[in-house]
Order: sequence, then C-alpha cells, then structure tokens
Amino acid sequence: MTQSKVILPKINDRHISSFKEVVGEENVLTDFDSVEKLSKDFYWYSPILKKQLENKQADIAVKIGDLAELQAVVSICAKNRLPITLRGGGTGNYGQCIPLYRGVVLDITKMNRILSLDGGVARVEPGARLFAIETEARKLGWEMRCLPTTFVKSTMGGFLCGGSGGIGSITHGMIRSGDNMKSITFMSAEEEPRFRKFEEEEVLTTLHTYGTNGILVEAEMRLAPEVAYDQMIFVSRDWERLLDWTDGVARNEAIHKRLVSMFEWPVPVNFLSLKKYLPEGNHVVFLTAKQEQCPDVIADALKNGIDHTRTIPHTEPMKPPYLSDFTWNHTTLWAMKKDPTMTNYQMSFGPNFQEQIRLLLKKFPGEIQMHLEWIKADDNPLLISLPLIKYSSEERLQEIADYFTEIGISTANPHTYILEEGGMHPDIEAKRALKSEMDPHGILNPGKMATYPHNPFVMAIN
Ligand SMILES: Cc1cc2nc3c(=O)[nH]c(=O)nc-3n(C[C@H](O)[C@H](O)[C@H](O)COP(=O)(O)OP(=O)(O)OC[C@H]3O[C@@H](n4cnc5c(N)ncnc54)[C@H](O)[C@@H]3O)c2cc1C
Repeated sequence: MTQSKVILPKINDRHISSFKEVVGEENVLTDFDSVEKLSKDFYWYSPILKKQLENKQADIAVKIGDLAELQAVVSICAKNRLPITLRGGGTGNYGQCIPLYRGVVLDITKMNRILSLDGGVARVEPGARLFAIETEARKLGWEMRCLPTTFVKSTMGGFLCGGSGGIGSITHGMIRSGDNMKSITFMSAEEEPRFRKFEEEEVLTTLHTYGTNGILVEAEMRLAPEVAYDQMIFVSRDWERLLDWTDGVARNEAIHKRLVSMFEWPVPVNFLSLKKYLPEGNHVVFLTAKQEQCPDVIADALKNGIDHTRTIPHTEPMKPPYLSDFTWNHTTLWAMKKDPTMTNYQMSFGPNFQEQIRLLLKKFPGEIQMHLEWIKADDNPLLISLPLIKYSSEERLQEIADYFTEIGISTANPHTYILEEGGMHPDIEAKRALKSEMDPHGILNPGKMATYPHNPFVMAIN
C-alpha cells in the first residue's frame, strides 16, 4: 500500500525579509498568538473539525494593502513554493481558512475599497465588508441581494469563496442563483501572477471554493432596489400550525421578504436578549418584510391563531437589533454558548417537508432541535434547515446523517474541511481544471480540494 509523508515548507529569514520589503515590517506578523488568531475561523462549531484542526496554523501572516502588494507577495510565495491561505473576516465555518500545511496567511481586509455602485452593481475589492457595501448602496437607493448573517465582519471575497447565501435569499436566491453575480476577477498564484475575469455563468466555477482555485481580487455583484424592512416576531405553541402559516407566507410572492426563519421550542431559550418576546413553550418565527405590508401580515397571523409579540421598525441607516443575529449559522452559535455539546447539520427538505420534519422529530426527540430557513431556489421557495444536534459521538452523528438521506433529505456535511465532501460541487471537474490553470504549483489552500492530484506538501512513499 502506498503511504504518504508530509513535507512542510520552511519559511526562512530571507522570505520574511522579502515580505517586509513589500508590505512594511509592521504588516508581517510572526509571533505565535497573532498568527494563530489569523489562522483560525469558526471551525469549532464542529466537534470533529475541532479535533482535527485545533493545532493547525500558518508560519506567518502578511497583511496586504493593495493589489501591487498582493501580486508581489504571491510572486514570492510562488517562487518559494510556500502555501497561501487567503483570509477575509475569518468568520467562515468548516476550517475553510485554516492552513493544513502551514505557510503564509494573507489577510486582505485592507483591500476594502468599494470601487463603484453605478447602475445597481457593486464593484468592490475583496476585503470590502458587506455591511459597508450595504450602507453605501442604500444611500443610492440600492440594497444587497443576499448577505450572510455575519455581514458586519465578513468580506466580499470571503462570502463569495466561503459562503452561500442568507438574508435576502428568500427573494433573490443564494449567491449562485440567477444573475446575482456579474463578474469575478481571479489572480493566479504564479511567479508572474495573471488575471482572469469570469463573467455571468462562468462565475459559478469560482464560487465557494475556499481560495483553492484562484485569488479573488475584484467582484461585481448585482444589487436590488432598496426596501424598508420591519422585523417581526411570531409565536405559537402549535408547531404544525406555525409551520403551515410560515410556509404560506414564504411562498406568497406578493409579500416582499428578506428573512423567514423558524425555530422549534426550546431553541429560542438560547436567544437571551429577546427573552421577553419569546414565551415559554412557544415555537418562534422571525420574519423580515417590506414595512407597508407588515400590518396585513400581522393581521393574517392573528386570524390564523398565531401571536405576534414584537415588531422592530426599519431604521435608515440600518442599526441593531437585528433578528438575523439569531438566524442561519448564528442559531448554532447561541446554542453552543449555552451548551457546548450542541452542533448542527445542513440540509434541504423535499416537497414533502412536513412529513420529513415529523419523522425527524419523532426519531430523534431531544437529540435534534429544528431550525428552518426559507430560501428561493430555481425560482421556487425551498425549505432548508440547520438543525441543532446534541453531539455524542462521530458514529452517532453519521447515523443521524444517514437517516436524513434515507428519508430523502439532501445534506451538505458541515463537519469536513474537504470541499468535495461538503456538497454543493456538481461542477468539481471544472473547479479542478480551474485550479490547474490558476494554481499550477498547488500552493493555494492545499489539501482542501482533496481530489486535486498535485499537493506538493504530500509525498508518496512505498
Ligand atoms: C455565526 C455565523 C453565521 C454565519 N451565517 C452565514 C450565512 O448566513 N450565510 C453564509 O453564507 N455563511 C454564513 N456563515 C459563514 C461565513 O460567515 C460567511 O460565509 C462569510 O461571508 C465569510 O466571509 P469572511 O470574510 O469571514 O471569510 P473568511 O472566513 O475569511 O474566508 C472564507 C473562505 O474564503 C477564502 N477567501 C477569503 N478571501 C478570499 C479571496 N480574496 N480570494 C480567494 N479566497 C478567499 C478563505 O480562504 C476561506 O476559505 C456564518 C458563520 C458564522 C460563524
């Protein structure tokens, strides 16, 4: 049987001096604590990844100021075959930006210019924070089509290369849907870095690839006309009634929504700052909808026996509290604060979602707590879920995931750092081909695209 041996790169004083010449001494970090901090993300959501990745970190971190610096630093890395891991806000899950083979972390958060918002398209540098883009866009009558719930900290580069969708996806779909993306420009990891612009459909090959098949240096994302949204909380002790009503609202195209999230009791117990609006024993819906339509939505809820406990009116500019801080992957964060043995899974239900949910709640009482998000996929509302799971062992988690599949639920595994195992990659061949083109030395986040044949840091031995 062929075995393999890991050969880690050796970063020496000569490399460090070259980096300092390009970006200045203060932007090259070599002390353990700073490098560790810039090497980690929210991988610890998964008890499996926590074990696998907690000792992984880069040798150094370099803070990049502009494109010329990025080119020069990448060129040094390419010449010396040093692994490169790109980093935006570092809010990714699954260890996306944790280096497996040490090397250099490139922090691109200073490359954060919003280059233009003309014609309803945000053209930005990779480190532009999503909240900054949303704020500037709203001043001109636009808003972002979709945002992760980490929008305050996360960057455009990180969202496109690590994220998938979130706030706004109920109306505009996920990042990859429709014409949300206009273009992405990638830079190659070579001695003489090259640029390639991907437009419209071509962009799909570059998305959600963890910085393995190119360095994103510019993006154009389409915006939507700005809307004022109120945030509402609805509650009911009757799970099925609340589910049916919420699904009806999600599917009602006439209601303009930005967020539709639902939580089974006792998930809301973890939302401490909202406690007085979340009565004991009640399942909860957070709904963000166009301000003028909210009174009708509330009246309809009351007519259907569902209680409305709070409306947070829209403010311009947007300011907290944001109900989104409790939705999507934030739900797991609050649960883990209360009980560190909680984790999650990611899945999409079929058209028979009521039945699938019933089966899950019956099969795993106390072990799974339901958390639902509605999005738009292929022009139709789709129910997805990041259920909370009480973790006991890797084997048990696998049994639970196998049951999801058995009853026809599609899953994306959040407990792996391997791109191909996480789902969402029917086009992995094209992604691999792009990696050959943009990363001929195999130095971009090596090990994450596991089926890519060339990893210079792993040597086969007999
Ligand atoms: C509490 C919580 C809630 C979340 N909610 C959501 C959500 O609603 N929707 C969602 O989609 N995600 C969500 N996420 C995941 C994550 O926050 C988002 O995907 C976010 O947009 C990542 O942006 P970032 O700047 O932090 O990326 P980072 O974590 O810095 O990077 C993510 C990936 O992109 C790569 N990358 C970064 N910049 C570049 C570049 N310029 N070129 C190439 N590769 C690059 C990194 O190497 C890494 O692999 C959540 C995570 C947490 C912890």
